[in-house]
Amino acid sequence: MSATEFSGIAERRIEDANLVRGVAALTRERIERVVKAVTRGEAGARLAVYHETCMRCGMCADACHYCISHDGDPTYSPVGKMEQTMWKLLRTGGRVDPDDIYGMAQIAYTECNLCRRCVHYCPVGIDTGYVMSLVRRICHRLGVVPLYIQDTAHSHSGTMNQMWVKDDEWIDSLVWQEDEARGEIPTLRIPFDKEGADFLYSVIAPEPKFRTQLIYQAAVIFDQAGVDWTMPSSPGWDNSDMCMFTGDYEMMGRLKRCHFEMAQKLKVRRIVMGECGHAFRSVYDVGNRWLGWKNHPVPIVHSVEFFWELLTEGRIRLAKKFEEPVTIHDPCNIIRGRGLMDKLREVTHALCSNVVEMSPTREHNLCCCAGGGVINCGPPFKGVRLAGNKAKADQLAATGVHTVVAPCHNCHGGLEDIIHHYKLGMHTKFLGDLIYDCMEKPGAA
Ligand code: SF4
Ligand code: SF4
Repeated sequence: MSATEFSGIAERRIEDANLVRGVAALTRERIERVVKAVTRGEAGARLAVYHETCMRCGMCADACHYCISHDGDPTYSPVGKMEQTMWKLLRTGGRVDPDDIYGMAQIAYTECNLCRRCVHYCPVGIDTGYVMSLVRRICHRLGVVPLYIQDTAHSHSGTMNQMWVKDDEWIDSLVWQEDEARGEIPTLRIPFDKEGADFLYSVIAPEPKFRTQLIYQAAVIFDQAGVDWTMPSSPGWDNSDMCMFTGDYEMMGRLKRCHFEMAQKLKVRRIVMGECGHAFRSVYDVGNRWLGWKNHPVPIVHSVEFFWELLTEGRIRLAKKFEEPVTIHDPCNIIRGRGLMDKLREVTHALCSNVVEMSPTREHNLCCCAGGGVINCGPPFKGVRLAGNKAKADQLAATGVHTVVAPCHNCHGGLEDIIHHYKLGMHTKFLGDLIYDCMEKPGAA
């Protein structure tokens, strides 16, 4: 396949105000300078090895849901995306036109979920997600980032959370959910800033913003399990990280530092995270490494693992099981990224009588197409996500069930859009939804 055949992105350009504004301010000299600074100054040997070892064999094409969903169009294949972006930048030494950067940004931010499925299919293990992250890093340093996701990154830098939640609104949300939950469990408290607690519970900003019932449910689960927990009242409570996805690594580092320093200040034994995949990637894999931390300074546990502990230790006892057949969606960041596939299944089977596996599944599962910050690029690119994951719609429909269990916020957003668009007649559930519904609540009024 020659480079000249890769004309796809020019034909599918989507108007985004911030991409237009950013590209208008570029010069060829500035592009070349930034490309060299990132590819030679930040990336090092890993990128060079990937570039030199990629055989353009195309074996990665069948791994990518965008490529599968577009009938094998090579411009959507992992190698096709690298060819139109990073390989072109390396081949030219960064001597490209400002207009080229528009297309590269559109590919890197909206046509790759950084899901890393393709790594498993490449005979030499090239991580296209890593390469696309570096393209995003270049675009960030050039000021060419889609408007909606840039807004979330600005929110992080202004408020230390993703959704412009003010400090008093955060506390109000927790007190509100505590009040609500006390209607069900009269003695329940959400403990603020409890020094020395066994764990700090951290969530992502969409929870206080528009999924507050998840805070309610977590409070009931922890209270009735009798665990020693706390939530912070000040910045550091949000573990999400859109800066990791825009390529603003300096801000990503500030966020991680704030998060872990909060846990250290409260002298908790560990952090338990809510059901989010990308946040886990940012604290467990990317942000900590950017800061040069070999290990994060406070142990961190994803809620799939924590729920598994509560169930296997008998701290949660079940009053019933969920009887309707369910299927399991494996979120990329905690399955390919952390290997929680067995624990996810043990928890789901403990809660549900009838589990129907998707095909393929576990580390081979297809991404929801929302991850990697793609859903955060907003309405202009929603159609790209829906068309780019017909493969997921087919996979969901083939299960024949109506309930999808997915322990990740982004996956819920992506799957709900796919379910609605392809009229699949399904709905999504978090593990917390199922545990809350099925557990014994001895303290209930
Ligand atoms: S499978 Fe690997 S070596 Fe082959 S084209 Fe894809 S990235 Fe390159
Ligand atoms: S979306 Fe996933 S499978 Fe496709 S290129 Fe990106 S990392 Fe690879």
